[in-house]
Amino acid sequence: MALRKILNDNHSTLRTRAQEVKNINSAVLNLIDDMIETMREADGVGLAANQVGVPKRILVASDCREDGGVYELINPQCEKAEGEEVGVEGCLSVPGQYGEVPRHQKIIVSALNRKGEKIRLELEGLPARILLHEMDHLDGVLFVDKAVRMLDPEELKSDEEKSDEEKSEEKS
Ligand SMILES: [Zn+2]
Repeated sequence: MALRKILNDNHSTLRTRAQEVKNINSAVLNLIDDMIETMREADGVGLAANQVGVPKRILVASDCREDGGVYELINPQCEKAEGEEVGVEGCLSVPGQYGEVPRHQKIIVSALNRKGEKIRLELEGLPARILLHEMDHLDGVLFVDKAVRMLDPEELKSDEEKSDEEKSEEKS
């Protein structure tokens, strides 16, 4: 496993629609392992492949449970979405900025796992928000595009006073 460089907001790969994965080969599996290591090292809760310069439809995301499990999704698709909720988000590719973003509250996502098996996840609340944020990355969309309000520096200051754990929930 190895750490990968996380691209920042003005990089063109972040604005590229990622391509479907046709063949789950060793390069794809290595990429997933590296993405998990990179996400953890950066204290993030999610990472999409184009954030590390690979425009393929792959994402990793915390399952938000205490055991620290990670979803590894290849070619994810949102099959159903309902409800709406506004919450604060940040992004490892948009350092230092946070904004309020409306997202669907409940989603059903289908994807392939690393063995190429079809999986289906029903999520709500924070894990749903993280997956929607990451799936947007795969379409070249950043949270700043959807934010209804960016937090101002005063609010950011109070964010910095939060514990590391609280802050890490906001970066994907
Ligand atoms: Zn992000």
